[in-house]
Amino acid sequence: MGDARFTTLGGTLMLDFLNTFQMHQGQPVDLLMTACDVIGWLERMGEIHRLSPIQIERLVAAPTFSLGPLREFRLSCRTLLDEQRSFAEIASWLTAFIDPSPMTFLVDAQGSVFAVPVKGGTAGLLSLVAYDGVKLAKARSTSIKRCENPQCMAYFITQSGRRKWCAMETCGNRQKSYRHYRKLKGNIM
Ligand SMILES: [Zn+2]
Repeated sequence: MGDARFTTLGGTLMLDFLNTFQMHQGQPVDLLMTACDVIGWLERMGEIHRLSPIQIERLVAAPTFSLGPLREFRLSCRTLLDEQRSFAEIASWLTAFIDPSPMTFLVDAQGSVFAVPVKGGTAGLLSLVAYDGVKLAKARSTSIKRCENPQCMAYFITQSGRRKWCAMETCGNRQKSYRHYRKLKGNIM
């Protein structure tokens, strides 16, 4: 069982990667503090089939995960999404991260085909995440959302556009009970 702190509510590889920076009780928490954390995250993505064993194998073949560039990518990407930049802008920004380790493909034992970056490590990981982001950015205006709980930093995809919270059990209920409390308070005063 992988590390459950790594949430999978983003719904795609790129958003789950951005969600490794979270808010816990009002404090920002970075879940990627060591190269081991990065490997733990890859294993978690493998468990839920966001990454295939063949992709993970390639990434860890050169296990030089440098936290600086990974964090820098994550922060810049979060900023572009928060600023609601256009698809073209985000896609061209992301494409620059695919250049250092472009994609090839491999076929696994079951005959499934997977995009695999030519280099592993940091460059390979950024390449795969950026590739996922380019595919996602195409539909971003309707599908990528940031949780409406102001105390939460999670992104997720929504098909209907109506989903407001990353998770009903946490952020949804918290926001609802807060509004209910305000309403009650308003009635008393
Ligand atoms: Zn949330």
